Amino acid sequence: MIHSLLARARDGVLPDSAAAPTLAAATDLPALLAVAGELRDRGFGNVVTYSKKVFLPLTHLCRDVCHYCTFAKAPKRLGNPYMPLDEVLAATRESA
Ligand code: SF4
Repeated sequence: MIHSLLARARDGVLPDSAAAPTLAAATDLPALLAVAGELRDRGFGNVVTYSKKVFLPLTHLCRDVCHYCTFAKAPKRLGNPYMPLDEVLAATRESA
């Protein structure tokens, strides 16, 4: 079943909602990676992209509580709740 789904994916056919769980539970990682790599290469070639942005975490404090988040920290877990200005400037200069 999984190999027929992968063959269809290789042909550009997306799994329907009934077949998607089977594909998601695939344990044949080499086969899955082979198809994923082929689709990636077909779509993007060997182009590697990256973001030219610089990340300045001015604070790790957050008033929301998204339980998946690993970025926000409780105030008691932070030595300094705000990024010091000299670190902001150094990171900005370095990124320039
Ligand atoms: S994802 Fe993290 S940083 Fe973003 S709002 Fe949720 S808790 Fe805050």
